[in-house]
Order: sequence, then C-alpha cells, then structure tokens
Amino acid sequence: MKGQTLSSYSNLIQTILRADYKIYAVDEYIREKPEKNVVVLRHDVDVNPHQALLMAKLERSLGVKSTYYFRYIPRVFNESIIKSIGEMGFEVGYHYETLDKSYGNFPEAISLFKNELESFRKIAPVKTVCSHGNVVRNKHYSGLNYDIFKFSENLLEECNLKAEAYLNMLFSPLVYLSDSIERTSNPFKSVEDLIRRIEMQSEDDINYYILFHPCLWPNGTVDSFKIKLKKTIFHTSAKMFRLLSKGRGCDNNSAQKTSLN
Ligand SMILES: [Zn+2]
Repeated sequence: MKGQTLSSYSNLIQTILRADYKIYAVDEYIREKPEKNVVVLRHDVDVNPHQALLMAKLERSLGVKSTYYFRYIPRVFNESIIKSIGEMGFEVGYHYETLDKSYGNFPEAISLFKNELESFRKIAPVKTVCSHGNVVRNKHYSGLNYDIFKFSENLLEECNLKAEAYLNMLFSPLVYLSDSIERTSNPFKSVEDLIRRIEMQSEDDINYYILFHPCLWPNGTVDSFKIKLKKTIFHTSAKMFRLLSKGRGCDNNSAQKTSLN
C-alpha cells in the first residue's frame, strides 16, 4: 500500500479505535472468542526487530496490544528486544520456518521446531506460533511451513500451544488484510484508502484480521525511500531467480507468495 509510515500507521490505529473496534492480540482473540467489532492485530517480524520495537512503543502509547511473531534467525532473534516487547504487555510468538530449514524433512523440522520454541520460551511465554512464508531464495520445501501440524496432528498440544495463527483462527468470519499481499490483488492501494474504508464500515459487522510487517512501516521519508529501493531490488532479483530456476524444480507456490510472509 502507498503511504506506509509509522505516522500513517498511528492514524490508522486511531481510526480503528474511533470506529469502536476492539483490537486483540492473537492469544487474546483465541481465549475470548469475540464476535463483533473485532480487529486481530498481528505483526510478523521478518527482518528488523528494531522497527518492531518502535511499532510496539507507538502501539503502547495508543493503548493497543497486538502479537509480534519473531523468526529464529540471527538478525531477528534479538533477545533484549523480544524481552522488552513481551514486558510491555504484547504477545510474543514464534515465526517458524523449520520445513524450509530442513529441506522438507518432517521429523527434522518438528525436532527443530521444538528446540527453537524452547529458545523463545527462555525469554517470554509463547502461546501461539505462526508460519513464515519464505520467498524463492530461502524456500527449500515445496509446501507451507505449517504442514508440520498436518503431519503431526498433536503437535500443538504436545508443545502446550494454544494456536497456529493461520490454522486456528477460523471460528468467526474475519476479513484478512496484509501489507504483503501483492499490489495487484490488494483491495487497498493506500493507507488512506484503508482508513476511509474503515470509517465507512464502522456500522457494519465486519471483523478484520490484520497482518502488518513492522519493516514495511518506516519512520519517515528517507527510510521510506530506502524500503522502496530495497523492494525494487528484491522483486527484480526474485523475478530473475524464478526465471533462472524454471525447470530446476524450485518452488513457485503462489499461495505462499501472496498470503504468507
Ligand atoms: Zn514472515
């Protein structure tokens, strides 16, 4: 969406609150099972934990609680930031990608999942987890990372988890919005569009499930320019990689690219 900055994010959250929605973290939503005026707010921290901390501080100043899912990779697994966000009252979760890391080996992926989850739990209580959708370069499994829960049906209970953020959120209708949906299929071209839609729909019974990546909501114009440049470089190289990979059996799963990140 055009116009993604921390400042427009602040306007968006204030609009949601003015429209009488209540904002829920994932674990809170699972526990309370509300039916009306619901916005479930989730953040996948894919690359920049520092930006997640800024977003959490902003949300705290607006009186909002949400869920932050962190990947277990060196540049994201920042113990002090994860601890701080948890101590601020936010839900901290594990953004796993173990089937990709294990090249599709299920027993290995499940064992790695348990180990990485333990590392998170040394820092904060983790009640829910969320599948990360690697794009092209780090994608080493042809399905989705949450397939481990289909392979091992008792995995949630075994790990004392309440939910997987894609598989266990369907008990009431939620309209899914993400800042990572490809521009052509995103119903909202700009943050302003989304704000207007929420203002217009405040009388309707629409519940939202929002996924925003903190790294895509920069502080200002300079950061915004850097993100645009990085996106252009990323999309160009991803396109080239896909072209070069054709015929080599590399994954090209469209669901992964559009709905999971
Ligand atoms: Zn992700």
